[in-house]
Amino acid sequence: MREGNLIDGRWVGADSGATFEVSDPATDRVVGRVPDAGADEARRAVDAAFGAFSAWAAKPAIERAKVLEALSARLAGDREELAALLTEEQGKPLPEARAEIDYARSFFEVSAKACQEIRDETPSVPGKKVLVHRRPIGVAAAITPWNFPMAMLAKKIAPAMAVGCTQVLKPAEQTPLSAIALLDRAMASGVPPGVLNLVTGDPAAIGSAWLEDPRVRKLSFTGSTDVGRILMRGAATNLQRLSLELGGHAPMIVFEDASVDFAVEMAMAAKYRNGGQTCICPNRFLVHRSLHDQFVSKFASRSAALVSGRGRDPGIALGPMIDDAAIDKVEAHVADAIQQGATVVTGGRRRRIEGLADRFFEPTVLTDCHSGMRCWKEETFGPVCPIRGFDDETEALAQANDSEYGLASYVVTNDPARIRRLGDELRTGIIGVNDPGPAVAAVPFGGVKHSGFGREGGRWGLEEYLEMVTVSSLEPGAE
Ligand code: NAD
Repeated sequence: MREGNLIDGRWVGADSGATFEVSDPATDRVVGRVPDAGADEARRAVDAAFGAFSAWAAKPAIERAKVLEALSARLAGDREELAALLTEEQGKPLPEARAEIDYARSFFEVSAKACQEIRDETPSVPGKKVLVHRRPIGVAAAITPWNFPMAMLAKKIAPAMAVGCTQVLKPAEQTPLSAIALLDRAMASGVPPGVLNLVTGDPAAIGSAWLEDPRVRKLSFTGSTDVGRILMRGAATNLQRLSLELGGHAPMIVFEDASVDFAVEMAMAAKYRNGGQTCICPNRFLVHRSLHDQFVSKFASRSAALVSGRGRDPGIALGPMIDDAAIDKVEAHVADAIQQGATVVTGGRRRRIEGLADRFFEPTVLTDCHSGMRCWKEETFGPVCPIRGFDDETEALAQANDSEYGLASYVVTNDPARIRRLGDELRTGIIGVNDPGPAVAAVPFGGVKHSGFGREGGRWGLEEYLEMVTVSSLEPGAE
């Protein structure tokens, strides 16, 4: 396994030779060591990306598409090895890691097709011949989080590479090994030196070096809203284009016409993926009063039965929280809710497991929740499910929209008129109607309000890396 940075096609260490450790959050065992790089290495990565840009951008789309397809095939071939690595550094159950590799691959496949469908446009203007042309924006930077270390990077690499951009990439400190493995496969699939460059180390130093460099024309960031704000301020000097995929606080609304069993299935699938450490997973449950008690009882008993442990072991549904700060936050949110009157139906505490790190939290279902509680306003990012009842659609909608975030929302109903209304009125970028997994590579994914802006997925994802040029010529003889 490689443990270096990739600059201009070469695997290198930090200038200082310094490294930092990567450990398995379930056991604290050190599983890798990567370069602790900073601004100088980040600038050299831009040199390489800038140098490689013209040649990569000039390739026909079909040639770039072939490289993306080759990378997808290689990821498929190495699926087991990559999934094991992902689980080791991130903690999620192995079946979820495999699903993440498949999800990552789907972005290469979708982008390979979509880049061949980009066409010039010719709007009709009297007396003029106008061509609207799209060209790659240039060097693009990407900074990604730890919760989906392979997929979040693929969502950025695939569209950028497809349209002819070159990139500088920084994965999260907790999970750089999956990123390194992905770039290793990319190089083996025919990506030319300099097209993809990866730097691990000091986030602020690397991020600032990229934003201070006018050759970097785009930054795509997935992570917390607070860091998104810092980066947006940093982008003001050189006016880099931004895509910000930030925090979420998804409501799930269960209406009176829903089947309780289906609603419970949907809640289980949407909520517990990655132990609740998923930006689009429901953080608040709004359940019609006529179904409330039945839903709570079934959801709590299903939740209590989930088995926690090392992600690589069979039958595990919940891995560890990523680090100590993450589990401390989950615990603090639950304590705050209890102190403010919530009832613990199941869970509520850490789950100690013999021989493993103290980073497991019980699946927790809370009732009697209200909007003054931290878990109702802030991202808990853990297996905690606060529930409150509602009486009618107007009340449910007002509660669902009462959040600074606007990434995803979920609705369980079979009423077509209601589905249409909510599609207009829920203030989130993604709405899952009877669908616990609305995020797929072929459709736009992204938020509104403090969940950011920009979209990933399908041809919409490619647009983020293209700039439009209008070429306007006077027709001969026109005034
Ligand atoms: P984070 O914001 O702490 O870190 C994300 C990335 O930013 C990491 O690579 C980190 O090293 C880097 N970073 C931190 N400070 C930086 C700085 N000053 N300059 C440059 N880079 C910096 O987030 P996290 O804890 O890794 O991830 C969890 C967050 O990500 C949650 O808020 C979650 O909702 C969000 N998320 C959003 C989406 C989405 O698509 N909207 C997807 C996954 C995760």
